[in-house]
Amino acid sequence: MSAAQLPGGPSLPQERRLVTAIPGPKSQELQARKLAAVAAGVGTTLPVYITRAGGGVVEDVDGNSLIDFGSGIAVTNVGNAAELVVERASQQLAAFTHTCFMVTPYEGYVAVAEQLNELTPGDHEKRTALFNSGAEAVENAVKIARAYTKRTAVVVFDHGYHGRTNLTMGMTAKNMPYKQGFGPFAPEVYRVPLAYPYRWLTGAENCAAEAAAQAIDMITKQIGAENVAAIVIEPIQGEGGFIEPAKGFLPAIVEFAKANGIVFVADEIQTGFCRTGQWFACDDEGIVPDLITTAKGIAGGLPLAAVTGRAEIMDAAHAGGLGGTYGGNPVACAAALGSIETMKQLDLNAKAQAIGATMLTRLRAFAEKFDVIGDVRGRGAMIAIELVKPGTKDPNPEATAALAKFCHNEGLLVLTAGTYGNVLRFLPPLVMPQELLVEGLDILENAFAAL
Ligand SMILES: *Cc1c(COP(=O)(O)O)cnc(C)c1O
Repeated sequence: MSAAQLPGGPSLPQERRLVTAIPGPKSQELQARKLAAVAAGVGTTLPVYITRAGGGVVEDVDGNSLIDFGSGIAVTNVGNAAELVVERASQQLAAFTHTCFMVTPYEGYVAVAEQLNELTPGDHEKRTALFNSGAEAVENAVKIARAYTKRTAVVVFDHGYHGRTNLTMGMTAKNMPYKQGFGPFAPEVYRVPLAYPYRWLTGAENCAAEAAAQAIDMITKQIGAENVAAIVIEPIQGEGGFIEPAKGFLPAIVEFAKANGIVFVADEIQTGFCRTGQWFACDDEGIVPDLITTAKGIAGGLPLAAVTGRAEIMDAAHAGGLGGTYGGNPVACAAALGSIETMKQLDLNAKAQAIGATMLTRLRAFAEKFDVIGDVRGRGAMIAIELVKPGTKDPNPEATAALAKFCHNEGLLVLTAGTYGNVLRFLPPLVMPQELLVEGLDILENAFAAL
C-alpha cells in the first residue's frame, strides 16, 4: 500500500513496517546517548528515534514505520511536514528568520491574527497576540484578564492541565509528574469541581447541574465572585483524560461568568484546529469564550501560540505589556498560514468527524467484549478509553500501561493520560489514511485480547 501523493506530508509509504524489535538497535544506541546528555526530567514515551514522518506514520532510524495515534500530542493535525507548511515556512526561512515583531513588524504575524480572529467562536470584534508555547498563552490570558478586570483570582477545574511554567503548574490539577517538588506555586489560583460524567457519584444524568452548582457555590462563598478575574477551562480536558464536561455544564459556567464580570477563557490548546471535528471544541455547545488560548495544532509543529478574544479585553493591557522576543516568529507564522490553509483545503473537520465515527464504533464494540473498559468517549479525532478493574470503577493504570506497551511493540504509537493514569488516548493526524486507522484499531483489539 502506498499513498505517495498524500497531501498531508512527504511521500512516505503509508504502511506499518517492523524490521527490528521496538526500539531497534540504533534507537537504543541513541537512547543511551540521550540518557548521558539530556536531563532526566525530560522523559520519552517511546524511545524510537525518528528520521521522517508524514501522513499517518513515523519512521525511525532502524527503518521501522509506526502508525501514529499521537500526532506529537495533538500537534500535527495536518500531518507531519505537510506540503503547504513546508512550502510557506521554507520561503520565509530563506527571506528572513527574525526581526522581533516588537521591533520591526512583518505581515505574517498580522495575517495569523486575522485568521484567528475570523476562525475562533463569535463574530464580535477581536484581537490576537502571539506567543511561543501553550503555557505562555495561558499565562498571558491571565495577565490580560487581570488587567481588564482589575481583579486577581483565577478559577480552574479538577483534572485541568494548563502547562509547566510556574503559574500554569499551579493551574494544573495533577501533582505527579507535573508539580511534585516544583513549588511554591503562584497565589490566587482556585480549583473547583468539573462535571465528569463517568465518575459523578450521583450519576451522569445529575452531573452537569450538580457540578455547576458546586463550582458556582465555591466561587461565590470561598473566593468571592467580585475577586475573580478569569475562569479558565478546557472544553474537553486533554491531559486529564479527554473528559467531556456533561452537556449543560459549560453554558452554566459561561452564564455565571458573564453575570459576574468574569473573563471566561477557553483553553483550546489541545482541542483546537479541527481536532474535535470543528474548528474549536467550544463550537459544539455554541460557547463563545471571552478569550481563547491556542497552540499545538496551529502551525503543523512549529512553535506558535495565541490568545484571541474580545477587543475591549485584549486591548486592556498597556502597550509593551505583552510580547516576547520570539513571539509570533515569522517562520512559525508562515507555517501556521500553510497549516490553516491545508485544514480548509482538505476539509479536516470532516476528516476528524470520520475518524471519530470509525473509532467510536470499534471502541464501543470492544467495550462490550472487554470488561476492563469503563468508558469510551471523545469527539472527532480526540478519542479515549478509560480503563478500570473489571466489575468496578477503580482506575486500572497497570492495564493501561500494559496495553500501551503491547501497541508500541506492534508498531502503533499510542499515548496515555488521566489523573489516575488509566486513560488510553488517541490523537491521529487528521490526514490518517483509513486503512491505517483500521489497522491501528486491529492492533488495539489484539492488545485487549492479550491482556
Ligand atoms: C499542551 C497544553 C498546554 C501547554 O502547552 P505547551 O505548548 O506544552 O506549553 C496548555 N493547555 C492545554 C489544554 C494543553 O493541552
